[in-house]
Amino acid sequence: MGEFALIEEVRRRCSVPRADVLLGIGDDAALLLPRGGNELAVSMDTLVSGVHFPHATDAFDIGWKALAVNLSDLAAMGAEPAWATLALTLPAIDAGWLAAFCDGFAALAREHRVALVGGDTTRGPLTVTLTVHGHVPAGQALRRDGARVGDCVLVSGVVGEAAAGLACVLGSALRRAPDETDLAYLLERLNRPVPRVALGLALRGIASAAIDVSDGLHQDLGHIAARSGLAATIRTGALPPSAALSRVGDEAQRLRWQLAGGDDYELCCAVPPDRVADAQAVAAALGCVLTVIGHFDAGSGVHLIDAAGATVPSPCGGWEHFGT
Ligand code: ADP
Ligand code: MG
Repeated sequence: MGEFALIEEVRRRCSVPRADVLLGIGDDAALLLPRGGNELAVSMDTLVSGVHFPHATDAFDIGWKALAVNLSDLAAMGAEPAWATLALTLPAIDAGWLAAFCDGFAALAREHRVALVGGDTTRGPLTVTLTVHGHVPAGQALRRDGARVGDCVLVSGVVGEAAAGLACVLGSALRRAPDETDLAYLLERLNRPVPRVALGLALRGIASAAIDVSDGLHQDLGHIAARSGLAATIRTGALPPSAALSRVGDEAQRLRWQLAGGDDYELCCAVPPDRVADAQAVAAALGCVLTVIGHFDAGSGVHLIDAAGATVPSPCGGWEHFGT
């Protein structure tokens, strides 16, 4: 298979028809129809083999996750996904690998009606870069800089499980080796993140700020705090519990996974106290739990407190590519 057969295979396997795609894969550029009165949310994320996923990761999971992490960014903006472009760098063309990759990508693309409208194909170390585009009504995007003093900090679902899944893959020391069920569950959390797209849309008009948790809750919440010019406090006892985490890790490990582990792709948002019930109701209608874990104050930084209100030292930072 050569480059052009590959592009045709990607086009065929990943096709999702949309009325707002005038011209998709096959020309020098795609022609798209933006929605009148909307803003266009644009985001890009790269997955590098050995950095963002272990080299041995299943091709289906890589295709799924590449789109999932990008859709998670649109979710965090409250944007409705529409289009994607895919830059694929492969060491060699392996038809079986490509088919599985496309199937993983297409499974999630169909679910969210994302049309793959173009891309680029090159030879090199396995790297997948996606750009996604989504619609959001003017002025309604969920930005990082909108949190206000007194807002509550909420997080969707459970955080920390993907990090525990990675620890399993890497063979890191765990308090107890996971049984088969826990292992399968934690690996699923690592490899098949579910972007909170519907939740992001539902939180428009309710949340004052949002971010997706990709690099660790502590660090990502810090971005909302910094952009909003505020301090955030997390009550560690309020973090959503995880039976699987408690079984495979001790208390310190669990806290580290939940606060500093990455790859969860849950949403963390700021919500005014009088809108928390609304936020939790829209989440519940989507089958998702939204937990109040803290609040915003005047000041700066992210602070951790225990049930007695005593300061808890930070278990460590989140993921940073050029960190030491
Ligand atoms: P050009 O030489 O103009 O850059 P290419 O040969 O790279 O064109 O691409 C031909 C068409 O295939 C374009 O529409 C491009 O967007 C699309 N394409 C190339 N690679 C990919 C890919 N990995 N995924 C989706 N579309 C792709
Ligand atoms: Mg090209």
